Amino acid sequence: MSSRKMLIDGGVDSAAAVAPAEHYDYDLFVIGAGSGGVRASRTAAGFGAKVAICELPFHPISSEVIGGVGGTCVIRGCVPKKILVYGASFSGEFEDARNYGWELNEKIDFNWKKLLHNKTQEIIRLNGIYKRLLTNAGVKMFEGEGKVIGPNEVELTQLDGTRMSFSAKHILIATGSRAQRPNIPGKELSITSDEALSLEELPKRAVVLGGGYIAVEFASIWRGMGASVDLFYRKELPLRGFDDEMREVVARNLEGRGIKLHPQTNLKELTKTADGIKVVTDQGEELIADVVLFATGRAPNTKRLNLEAAGVQLDKTGAVKVDEYSRTNITSIWAVGDVTNRVNLTPVALMEGTCFAKTVFGGQPTKPDYTNVPCAVFSIPPLSVVGLSEHEAVEQAKGDILIFTSTFNPMKYTISGRQEKTIMKLVVDAETDKVLGASMCGPDAAEIMQGIAIALKCGATKAQFDSTVGIHPSAAEEFVTMRSVTRRVPAGSKPKTNL
Ligand SMILES: Cc1cc2nc3c(=O)[nH]c(=O)nc-3n(C[C@H](O)[C@H](O)[C@H](O)COP(=O)(O)OP(=O)(O)OC[C@H]3O[C@@H](n4cnc5c(N)ncnc54)[C@H](O)[C@@H]3O)c2cc1C
Repeated sequence: MSSRKMLIDGGVDSAAAVAPAEHYDYDLFVIGAGSGGVRASRTAAGFGAKVAICELPFHPISSEVIGGVGGTCVIRGCVPKKILVYGASFSGEFEDARNYGWELNEKIDFNWKKLLHNKTQEIIRLNGIYKRLLTNAGVKMFEGEGKVIGPNEVELTQLDGTRMSFSAKHILIATGSRAQRPNIPGKELSITSDEALSLEELPKRAVVLGGGYIAVEFASIWRGMGASVDLFYRKELPLRGFDDEMREVVARNLEGRGIKLHPQTNLKELTKTADGIKVVTDQGEELIADVVLFATGRAPNTKRLNLEAAGVQLDKTGAVKVDEYSRTNITSIWAVGDVTNRVNLTPVALMEGTCFAKTVFGGQPTKPDYTNVPCAVFSIPPLSVVGLSEHEAVEQAKGDILIFTSTFNPMKYTISGRQEKTIMKLVVDAETDKVLGASMCGPDAAEIMQGIAIALKCGATKAQFDSTVGIHPSAAEEFVTMRSVTRRVPAGSKPKTNL
């Protein structure tokens, strides 16, 4: 109740008050038509608000002045990445098919240019769909670069340099983030994920720098397409922040699929040679690559928005600082998605956009809920998780934690002969029996975890998992048949793995 009052005192419209404020051009002006901006503007328009949105011109590779309606997810993130993961997964499927009786005698060719073309066509199609979604919702679209001039004023610079200025009762910053490259000699020879999704030629020798999910995914993609891949990262294991036991499994699987791992290794220098890019590591190794991908992090798109001049506070990473309702320190200016650097995932940007519109235009102050946000790493095979990792549970819980794990050979591989175990894990509060976290590394992990996430959101107990009837034969049924505790971790102790 008090939060509602605070927002209303701060100038939030109730549903009935959404009638356009006469002295403003718009009730809402959104800068950036990616996941968060599109969702927020459509939802706000649905509540009756007069909404405008601006977005940079379209191209698969972004820059400070290039983007496209649909944003990172659609044009140079989740969607094209997943298309390439699908493409790369066929090579393993072909290997697995042999023991199922498929005679693949002839040489199988992979036509990268065809996949690249089809991927680009698909993102162009989606870009069109997103534009139509906005138009159909009654949102006015502008192409150009938006800047914040004051608490209620936005300036738009169009491609031809024409400037326009608009007033708005509320401004939403939804400008996302862009890949950054570490400052090493020869960094201009490297590429980021933007270019990696649009390479003219498929690399034969790929070097990937980074231990995050984007690095791991591109390593899997290129390996699946037949390249030799060397993956370099600073920590002992890739995927910092994920469950340690799962990180070990992912590392083992990457190696099993033929990716060369270089833990605790950084790149020192890149130089161009006649044979390719010479890569020198801080361990003194040297190798030659056709492409070097830097997947070393992203920075919020705030540099050119004039935010400091408008008085909007940023944190030390350059992200827009917001409260629990996505409001900045300036009461009429809000921000959602990657530009706020909270949980940088598409469904989270969508949730923040919806909550913003409900709060400001729907008369329902709503905070985004970050508990039990599921996510996936689309390595081959994928990893997917929801809730707390073992480490987080041990740190946060007051009492003991029970760990249930199941490691098994997926049925498909018993015939194909592939040596790659699937692992599942449940993290349970010993006292309440509540399932605090779940993770899986193996085929279809993301598809399975989405359902488990609903159970966790409903506060399911281990007993309820156990009383659920399995679907047989499936891998997913293991989640409801893990009867014996793998280990009990006493409160306050360090998490252990037994793999
Ligand atoms: C390679 C890769 C893979 C990913 N895979 C996944 C995944 O599998 N699952 C997942 O959930 N997430 C994934 N993500 C993350 C996901 O794409 C982002 O979290 C999501 O797109 C954030 O949405 P957003 O609206 O905050 O920003 P964006 O989608 O980046 O949209 C911001 C928009 O603002 C525009 N813009 C910037 N400045 C201006 C300006 N001054 N004026 C006008 N417009 C401007 C940009 O052009 C852009 O279109 C991936 C990201 C990458 C890079």
